[in-house]
Amino acid sequence: MLKNTKKGQLIVISGPSGVGKSTVISEVRRERKSLTFSISYTTRKPRQGEENHVQYHFLDRAEFEQMIADGQFLEYAVYENNYYGTAKQDVENLITAGYDVLLDIDVQGGASVRNACPDSVSIFVIPPSFGELSRRLYGRKSETAEVIQGRLRRAREEYKEIPNYDYLVVNDQVTKAAEEVLAILKAQDCRVSARLDMIKEDISL
Ligand code: 5GP
Repeated sequence: MLKNTKKGQLIVISGPSGVGKSTVISEVRRERKSLTFSISYTTRKPRQGEENHVQYHFLDRAEFEQMIADGQFLEYAVYENNYYGTAKQDVENLITAGYDVLLDIDVQGGASVRNACPDSVSIFVIPPSFGELSRRLYGRKSETAEVIQGRLRRAREEYKEIPNYDYLVVNDQVTKAAEEVLAILKAQDCRVSARLDMIKEDISL
């Protein structure tokens, strides 16, 4: 099991496709330098502008299944007929190096990480409304109407998992959503469990 120690914390961010998680994450990372994110592995084809090893490590099915067989994933899930997964070693390396590690993963992955790492913190990002989500997905012009409809149906299913998350952030304005995520991370920093080392000597006086 991964231990969430002073070395760095594990943060799960989930939310429907098209909600603008990546934009919020970029904004948060600009403000919080100790935060990085683990690049996931996927069998989905790169979208226009996406580069291998930047947004994702793009693999074919056989390569992904070999990684599953080798037990390399902290979690993985099938989303719209493609595999997506987070490598255990990647996360461990980053946490040991002192980074707070952010995982942008779906609700199945969120549940797996909560089980494997009970100290992780989980945040669910929603759009102001479903109409707005639909508008954003169509505006992206990267998927067919059929794929978009599938993603909207899936979003409704994903909402059922929200009560299992620690925090809910509405991405109405990116700056505001990023501020809320930063506030959550700050609160995490202030947890007694994260600061016990500050009073270790005082306790033993
Ligand atoms: P997209 O294809 O839009 O980049 O991502 C589709 C969904 O897969 C999103 O909800 C995203 O959060 C999720 N996802 C991305 N990487 C991972 C991963 O490593 N594991 C899991 N479980 N979901 C992921």
